[in-house]
Amino acid sequence: MRQSHLFTKTRKSAPKDEVSKNAQLLIRAGYIHKEMAGVYSYLPLGLRVLTRIEQVIREEMDAIGGQETKMATLHPSENWKQTGGWDNVDVLFKLMSRTEKEYALGQSEEEIVTPIGQEYASSYKDLPVAIYQIGQKYRDELRAKSGIMRGREFGMKDMYSFHETQDDFDRFYGIVKEAYFKVYSRCGLDAKVTEASGGAFSEKFSYEFMVLTDAGEDDIVYCEKCTHCANVEVSSQKEGDTCPKCSKGELKSAKAAEVGNVFDLGQKYPKAFNFTFKTNDGTEQYPVMGCYGIGTTRLMGTVVEVLSDDKGIVWPKEIAPYRVHLIGITGGNKDVAAEADKLYDHLQENGIEVLYDDRDARAGEKFADSELIGIPTRIVVSEKTMQEGGVEVVERTTGTAAFIQDSGIIEYFQK
Ligand code: ATP
Ligand code: MG
Repeated sequence: MRQSHLFTKTRKSAPKDEVSKNAQLLIRAGYIHKEMAGVYSYLPLGLRVLTRIEQVIREEMDAIGGQETKMATLHPSENWKQTGGWDNVDVLFKLMSRTEKEYALGQSEEEIVTPIGQEYASSYKDLPVAIYQIGQKYRDELRAKSGIMRGREFGMKDMYSFHETQDDFDRFYGIVKEAYFKVYSRCGLDAKVTEASGGAFSEKFSYEFMVLTDAGEDDIVYCEKCTHCANVEVSSQKEGDTCPKCSKGELKSAKAAEVGNVFDLGQKYPKAFNFTFKTNDGTEQYPVMGCYGIGTTRLMGTVVEVLSDDKGIVWPKEIAPYRVHLIGITGGNKDVAAEADKLYDHLQENGIEVLYDDRDARAGEKFADSELIGIPTRIVVSEKTMQEGGVEVVERTTGTAAFIQDSGIIEYFQK
């Protein structure tokens, strides 16, 4: 992508009412546009990042047997009335049609996926099954805050599974947990999992996946010596306590963002829709249901919060909008411009995605924009590098610069 064609531009300051770091940086760099509190549009750079995050999640969900769908987000009110959610879910947006029919906007999809599961799973032979989607959710949150980390319209991957037995749900939960950790680490984050009681939602309990950041809304305690982690809201554990899991470490407290959640839903939804399956011995039984969420937009915001520095955003390679930010410092020299054009084509021909700053702008401005935008590797072509037969390569995470001969550029990215 030639930056001179990109319709977004960086800006010096974020809107005054935007206090969170993630939204400030994302707006200034041209990734998102604020529509109102809790609602953002994703612009070309932002959409590329979000799509990458979704792809990481898709790969990990497919790898554990999840089957992708796209469920409706405009829901019949009848389904919500059937489960009691119409009156009990306070964040549910309700719509009235001009025909006086009522609808709900999807804030979660149990009311849609349970009847779908029921349609196709009638025997134990059809179970287990895991169905997921990646898309928009709508919640009438009282306070939209923390930029894209708590919105009224936001992105989520939500998966639902149906099982013959509780044991089988427990087995699958263990598999999902490993897949979740892979997702977070591919997104450059270090996550912990808490075991906490579920809200009104759940019959039994939930597991929350947490990333330490002051921008998060949750208070947790965690052990530095082992993986133990608990949500302070539901646990009596506090800072300074000896770790109840390893008995070695001392608990530390921290703020964290919930980037994912797993609920053991028991048989609540199958019972509400009278969804039964025939067991091996011929009796009818309700399946055990689980739901597994990852906030895709919250995850994007968390990455910005955790990895950015005083110059701007720092994207991990897997989810960066482009792999390379190519910067031509031409100073009006046509040969340098031609050299940068050539390298732009060469990188793309080798499957390396490039944002090419071909704008007629000062070097200082291009470098500052590049640091704000946060693409992992910057390549600079200038009169000086041309004379030396190569390019300057700078890594965004470390700031380390190296000179690479023209012949070694592709190899640099393949290693
Ligand atoms: P929270 O306690 O933060 O409100 P939740 O328990 O309501 O989260 P779930 O209903 O399990 O969350 O949703 C699954 C995931 O979707 C959460 O783990 C979080 O990452 C994300 N999420 C939930 N609400 C929002 C929101 N308003 N904006 C952005 N992401 C959200
Ligand atoms: Mg919530």
